[in-house]
Amino acid sequence: PEAMLALLTQWAPPVPIKPFKAKKIYSAEEIRAAIKEGALVNYYQPKVSVASGTVVGVETLVRWHHPKDGLVFPNQFIHVAEEHGLINDLTQFVLLQAFTQAKKWQQEGFELRVSVNVSMDNLTSLDFQDHVVKLAADAGILPQKLVLEITESQLMGDMRVSLEILTRLRLKRFRLSIDDFGTGHSSLAQLRDIPFDELKIDQGFVHRAWKDETLRVIYDASLALAKQLNMESVAEGVEDRDDWELLRRTGCDLAQGNFVSKPLLAEEIPEWIKVWLNRVQTELLVQSTN
Ligand code: C2E
Ligand code: MG
Ligand code: MG
Ligand code: MG
Repeated sequence: PEAMLALLTQWAPPVPIKPFKAKKIYSAEEIRAAIKEGALVNYYQPKVSVASGTVVGVETLVRWHHPKDGLVFPNQFIHVAEEHGLINDLTQFVLLQAFTQAKKWQQEGFELRVSVNVSMDNLTSLDFQDHVVKLAADAGILPQKLVLEITESQLMGDMRVSLEILTRLRLKRFRLSIDDFGTGHSSLAQLRDIPFDELKIDQGFVHRAWKDETLRVIYDASLALAKQLNMESVAEGVEDRDDWELLRRTGCDLAQGNFVSKPLLAEEIPEWIKVWLNRVQTELLVQSTN
């Protein structure tokens, strides 16, 4: 027993255990000030074609460059903004930056679709549609180049309203994407009624779906549904080569995730594209050996 005790007191965890740090949630006042002062910064995560490696577009992911706390992620402030009537201002800010950036890339010779995440409260705001149309026109970007992503769970809140607004945006030629698919509760009938262009399979059903049967069932069903309803399929949360190979084998259209690239600052995108296209040629288009 003495020896055991000695061993136990010597034991150290293989990796140091980090002290638990609770996620800080910010107040509406702080967020309001951040929007006003321009402290929110858009990051852009590439979406690429699985079959060809082509860079098809980027998804805009907002972060807050906080003077004291550093980089703050959306799960620490988006829901507060939604609850306190700040999401329209926030989205306007993100859209303006994203559309302006899309134009800049275009002028540099990069034809990229730019996706922006929108909340249900944005869609139900009366002037949202006019605002998006105006922002796109002012930036000189065709609506076909812009993708509005809305999560499946928010969509299901009020189907009747979302159906009408989304249909109108679709008629203006904006592309519509259903985000985090698999985590909401849409029915097949509802999906058929909304003119979505793109279906994003939630990352929870992508990473490791090649080895976990339960994940795989949902991944396969989502992919089949996208194909049946003529939507482009996107897998998010592609983290490693095994994930990537599953997409290749199953014919998923687009990939997004850290295996391709983490979200980047706008100015990093051109250099990243160069490096990526080289990686596609040398590494990714060859069949993996396992
Ligand atoms: P989302 O739209 O589903 O975005 C994907 C999230 O997965 C992003 O987190 C992204 O950084 C993360 N991600 C990307 N690749 C990987 C990967 O390989 N593995 C893992 N584990 N995660 C990966 P992020 O940037 O923290 O955003 C979280 C959510 O916040 C987004 O989920 C979106 O719903 C929301 N969001 C982000 N920006 C905005 C915005 O401007 N407006 C609104 N309304 N919501 C936003
Ligand atoms: Mg999204
Ligand atoms: Mg998503
Ligand atoms: Mg997600």
